[in-house]
Amino acid sequence: TAVPLAGRIAVVTGASSGIGAASAEKLAALGAHVVLLARRADRLQELAARIEQNGGKALAISVDVTDRAAVQAAADRVAAELGGADLLFNNAGVMLPAPVEELATDQWQLQIDLNITGLMNVIGAFTPQLVKAAADRGVADLINTSSIGAQNIYPNFAVYTATKAYVTHLSRHLRAELGAKNVRVAAIEPGIVGTELQTHVTDEGALAWLAGTRETMEWLTPQDVAETIGFLAALPPRANLQQVTIMPTGQA
Ligand code: NDP
Repeated sequence: TAVPLAGRIAVVTGASSGIGAASAEKLAALGAHVVLLARRADRLQELAARIEQNGGKALAISVDVTDRAAVQAAADRVAAELGGADLLFNNAGVMLPAPVEELATDQWQLQIDLNITGLMNVIGAFTPQLVKAAADRGVADLINTSSIGAQNIYPNFAVYTATKAYVTHLSRHLRAELGAKNVRVAAIEPGIVGTELQTHVTDEGALAWLAGTRETMEWLTPQDVAETIGFLAALPPRANLQQVTIMPTGQA
């Protein structure tokens, strides 16, 4: 059987749950040696053990991606132990919707710190490895998790969707910049996926809106998104799917 990602070193952030965990499992099943990054060490260890039981290879590193020095230390460890990453799925994120006049400034800051600053810390620490891998072996991948919120308008989600518009726009520019060095860059923009993301929401109105969407559609599963990540990574090196929107069939 074909092993499309054999020999590849794939770093996944937000790997302790949801889209990141499912995607790490998928990339490992396709043959990549995966590196699992998130804060909850126990969850990462469990996932690494399951991947290895299934014949894959995994390294778990507990890290808070908003801590730039800690992210750099994780990247240095990946370079030392595995020779560097050639695939980065930059996926950790948080969604905390609320009406803007409630001034939930702590929640604004959390979303900006993780979805923008955390994302940049990871790009900063791992891009040199991606560029080196692409020079040595002809291709590397940077895949950032954005959201359909980067395109559409959702009242009460302004700060979150603006962080995701940042991710999509950044990805388009980095694709143009890094493509010349054989590093493919993609943004994945999912609609609603059932994960722990919704469990952090505290705003009553947003919770009611989310519950309402459950009545009218079947949410995506993390595995649906993971399939897409595997597909992107396994394309021939000349082909870069720049932006992928994946929606629940019933979501407008
Ligand atoms: P989850 O809440 O299940 O996953 C979020 C992940 O991010 C967890 O692994 C969490 O692990 C990690 N994380 C959170 N804070 C930090 C931190 N400071 N440092 C390191 N890791 C951190 O949600 P999803 O799987 O849904 O979210 C993944 C991405 O998908 C996010 O960027 C989200 O915005 C995006 N997205 C999700 C959609 C959805 O409907 N679910 C739709 C569109 C986009 P830990 O707590 O262990 O650190």
